[in-house]
Amino acid sequence: MIDLHTHTTASDGSLAPAALVDAARAAGLRVLSITDHDTTAGFEAVTDRALQAGLELVPGIEISGVSDGRDMHVLGYFIDPASSGLRAFLQRQQTDRVRRVEEMSRRLAALGCPIHADAMLATAASGRSVGRPQIAAALVDAGYVQTRDEAFERFLEHGGPAYVPRRGAAPEEVVAIVHAAGGLASLAHPGVTKRDDRIVPLVAAGLDALEVRHSDHDAVTEQRYRDLARELGLLVTGGSDFHGGDVTHRVPRLGLVSIPDEDYIAFRRAGTNRERRV
Ligand SMILES: [Zn+2]
Ligand SMILES: [Zn+2]
Repeated sequence: MIDLHTHTTASDGSLAPAALVDAARAAGLRVLSITDHDTTAGFEAVTDRALQAGLELVPGIEISGVSDGRDMHVLGYFIDPASSGLRAFLQRQQTDRVRRVEEMSRRLAALGCPIHADAMLATAASGRSVGRPQIAAALVDAGYVQTRDEAFERFLEHGGPAYVPRRGAAPEEVVAIVHAAGGLASLAHPGVTKRDDRIVPLVAAGLDALEVRHSDHDAVTEQRYRDLARELGLLVTGGSDFHGGDVTHRVPRLGLVSIPDEDYIAFRRAGTNRERRV
């Protein structure tokens, strides 16, 4: 099985990177990519462990871009985490994440729901990506809401009273950053993001692939994006978007979404060629 989309405690997953590698092995995975939000700390911590486990670990990341005020996630694969352009870019992303958490905490306090943002911001200082999922968890812990979904619905979703927009990069810029780091860029979960109008401009900017398989894509959606990828000459990626089932409201199982070998072989071949060119 091949799962190219997972999260660890380096962003909003609930399993530490080492525990994720162990779980991947137990689930029978052959190829795994850890794609934490705006950080490479997760997969960098377990390259040796994956090797020892006989697991092919694809260097990955999920970068938040912004288009018309809304998030668009771009997955980067086969990236060099030491790329200076990537490092500088991720530092700016982290600075903006801290600003957003501080501003959202202020708004929640003004709404009568103060949370303790200090602990969250301390983990941000250690390289962990913080954001709305952690704020939602804090609102549940403080007893203001019953569930994280309710936290999003009442306060945190786009246009909600505590929502603060990201000051992020355009997805085209994210594609360029991934390429400069020697990687391939795939548009994450297009069936969830629902911005198909942005796909053709992204292809013009060099987008390499579409995430056709995803836990939140039904069979019809998957086929639609597979057809679109073929039409646009794009490669195909896929994964569970596993978060450990605890921190976020979604509970896809590890390895539940696997891409066919032939899709991965074509993708890896393109990734190897890109690495050689940089
Ligand atoms: Zn995403
Ligand atoms: Zn994800």
